[in-house]
Amino acid sequence: MKLLNTLCELIFPKLCLICNEPLYEAPKLCLACESKLPYYPFNLPGKSSLRNKFWGINNPTECFAMLQFAQGTICQDILHLIKYNNQQALAIELGREMALKMNSNGFTKPTVLIPVPIHKKKKQIRGYNQAALLAKGMALVWNIPIQNALKRIKHATSQTSLNREKRWENLKDTYILTSKIASEAHILLVDDVLTTGATLSHCLDILNYQKCSIATLAVSD
Ligand SMILES: [Zn+2]
Repeated sequence: MKLLNTLCELIFPKLCLICNEPLYEAPKLCLACESKLPYYPFNLPGKSSLRNKFWGINNPTECFAMLQFAQGTICQDILHLIKYNNQQALAIELGREMALKMNSNGFTKPTVLIPVPIHKKKKQIRGYNQAALLAKGMALVWNIPIQNALKRIKHATSQTSLNREKRWENLKDTYILTSKIASEAHILLVDDVLTTGATLSHCLDILNYQKCSIATLAVSD
């Protein structure tokens, strides 16, 4: 049976999700595409420029983003794959990579992961929440629980075309806290992309915890 699988893989190899080249070693992306991933140039865990996105609003303990988002880059392809193309295993793998990167760059290991939720209608259509899958990958590395302590109760209109203030207004009363978190917890709030920071700011506000860090797969300027 194993021989049959190997033969099948030789005749019908899996393809890179970005460029469609056959994959022989890497699980989801070919090595050429992997080498083109635009990693975000973060500094020290507590002094990242990501923090500026929350300036005057919240003070997250640590801020991490793995990739730099720009239109037309592999980063955009990846976000599209995990958001609209049902590439759930890729999202989990990227979550694993995020945790490993945080480990090797001096970030504190959190004690609980909280994914930014999506509205249940959206989840019904998509079938999954990509932020929860990233958290799942991180949980595999750190062996810590995921707590779905936040719920999205408002099905807000798309944020894409709104500026910072409008986004903030649009998100009012969107999220609620649904369960208690241990007071000594170090929360890591997980999302796929950080744009203006409005979503994560709202979630940080609601959690209102002593130790609450944020981690996103990508960040855009
Ligand atoms: Zn490729």
